[in-house]
Amino acid sequence: MDLQNLKGIGPKQSSLFHKLNIDTVEDLINYYPFRYDELKITPLQDANISKNICVVATILNDAKISYIKRNFNRMMFQAEVENKIIRVSIFNRAFMKQHLHIGRKVILVGSYDEKKNILTASNIVFDLFSSSQITPIYHKVAGITDKKMQNYILEGLKLPLEIDDYIPSYLVSQYEFLPKKEALSLIHEPKDLSMLKKARLRLIYEELFWFMFQVNYLSYQRKEHNLGLKRDVDFHKIEEFLMTLPFALTKDQKKALEEICHDLLSPQRMNRILLGDVGSGKTIVAMLGLYFNYLSGYQGAFMAPTELLAIQHAKVMEDFFGHTEIRVKLLLGSMSKREKDGVIEGLKEGTVDIVIGTHALLSEHVIFSNLGFVVTDEQHRFGVNQRGNLQNKGLKPDILYLSATPIPRTYALMLYGDMDTSIIKTKPNGRKEIITKVKGEKELKEVLEHILNEIKLGHQVYVVAPLIEGDENSQLYDVYELQEKFDMAFGHKIPIRLLHGKMKKQEKDAVMKDFQSGCIPILISTTVIEVGIDVKSATMMVIFHADHFGLATLHQLRGRVGRSDLQSYCYLICNHNTPRLKVMEESNDGFYISEKDFLLRGSGDLFGVEQSGDMTFQIADIKRDVKILEQAKKDSEVFLKQNISSQFAGIPIYQNLWKKFDMID
Ligand code: ADP
Ligand code: MG
Repeated sequence: MDLQNLKGIGPKQSSLFHKLNIDTVEDLINYYPFRYDELKITPLQDANISKNICVVATILNDAKISYIKRNFNRMMFQAEVENKIIRVSIFNRAFMKQHLHIGRKVILVGSYDEKKNILTASNIVFDLFSSSQITPIYHKVAGITDKKMQNYILEGLKLPLEIDDYIPSYLVSQYEFLPKKEALSLIHEPKDLSMLKKARLRLIYEELFWFMFQVNYLSYQRKEHNLGLKRDVDFHKIEEFLMTLPFALTKDQKKALEEICHDLLSPQRMNRILLGDVGSGKTIVAMLGLYFNYLSGYQGAFMAPTELLAIQHAKVMEDFFGHTEIRVKLLLGSMSKREKDGVIEGLKEGTVDIVIGTHALLSEHVIFSNLGFVVTDEQHRFGVNQRGNLQNKGLKPDILYLSATPIPRTYALMLYGDMDTSIIKTKPNGRKEIITKVKGEKELKEVLEHILNEIKLGHQVYVVAPLIEGDENSQLYDVYELQEKFDMAFGHKIPIRLLHGKMKKQEKDAVMKDFQSGCIPILISTTVIEVGIDVKSATMMVIFHADHFGLATLHQLRGRVGRSDLQSYCYLICNHNTPRLKVMEESNDGFYISEKDFLLRGSGDLFGVEQSGDMTFQIADIKRDVKILEQAKKDSEVFLKQNISSQFAGIPIYQNLWKKFDMID
């Protein structure tokens, strides 16, 4: 149902919601809060600086606003709390001033510094008797507050919507799950903590059940009818070729290559994922697979997540395979129509052997004369549907996915249950470990000096900030602030460039290209730095507010350096060294780090920090919800077995699924 059916949402609001990928009422009600604020009144004496408290306060004077800089203001006033007069400070809420009448009672949420007698509020709540003491907090865009978001959603829930429920009814009764609609209401308007937990459990289970069902279903289909291509290959040619490489393959690379070649030769169709840490040498293995496929007489496609990476891959291909007869072409959206048409023609005619492009490659109007093998790079988001899309061209190529997200093997077996897995554990020899240190802000000078040294050696430095522009009441650095800070520190003598997600694609590509070519010594960026980008002279990664990132993200970011035999460094800037950051100091091994990450994760905290976003489930978190994942896996297997012969008679959602997936193959 169109969003504009909701009162108060016209074209303008609609376009705001569109930025959040919300286009329908259904999207809206499925847009879950990422955390909650709990308004449980706490005594002032329990306060300490690092803990949020929540107190009832009476306003004592007019609030004063100071504008610190663009988009940044601070409001101060005095208030009485438990017979004590304190100062209150709140950032970027100048708009609230009109509601702060002297004598009014409000609830203040924030942290209290007893020494300075100042409460830094993150929120002021005016409605003392609100029905719920738990407020949902959403990821937002400017123009839609949490309250507005919640109101629209609650309005949406009142409409007569058809809400899909993916849990079969016998399981709903077995586990005494809440009805779907009730769970949705509670997620957006929790009555109390125990009901919120019940609602979350229901939605988490549903998401994981559905995910595991699809994995099991794809896997079942694959076993049932899945004939691949017939091939014949002269093994000597591959061996001859290996001699021309400037290095010998590692043991794990060899094993992975053997598994891939074995799949290519077998009459079964390949559906394999190659898991390996950043820099472990997956690309060359995939390329050897493509070569093997070429020798057997078929065309191949190599898909990268971005054009820049596609270009990088093409260069590597040229370096290693330039001396062979293999004809490789790039196909990019940014190429001229004439160029594109030429490549497309070549693919149709069979005069192009391998095409390298972005993931859009297969969805564009590209016809192959005899596509035999598709490699898709950095497929680390667990989109089951995405996996299906490839096969949608009526072709039956063998498929290899590359992923740089190391996850413990038991998880890999579950999440990639519909694929065979190859794992590269060891890195190529000769790589130095990246020296990693946690540093407090007080030690920044030392870090800056080190940065300067690296630059003098002709090396390059990445700096990562958690934000593009400081948002309300955040005390985190954003990229602009860091640029100012660095410019000051280096007296504007060192060129610094910025990279972030709000830049246009062309701008981003241009910056990345300049950095790659070595003419930018320092790149300050959010986490958007391309996964897989290979800049050999980049030797230092400095990550601010490192505790705000998940371990997997930190590891990925660190993997941007250490890409040659130069010694590389990683500084994690953070005022308290946490056990998670210690893991980073301890190890460079992605699998070790991910094992630890899963262990340390434990049960998540609803009221705590944001989820890391390493994995893209909507509400489930496979690290936190591993028990639910295991149960959902078992249940979905049983459900599949019992219902597949009847084609899920009586369960419309699953019947539709049946049709959908059958179209794919
Ligand atoms: P990944 O894609 O797994 O992140 P790459 O394939 O980009 O890693 O490999 C990283 C670098 O290591 C590349 O420059 C590649 O040429 C090099 N490399 C790959 N395999 C070996 C090897 N066996 N010995 C030495 N260097 C290697
Ligand atoms: Mg790679």
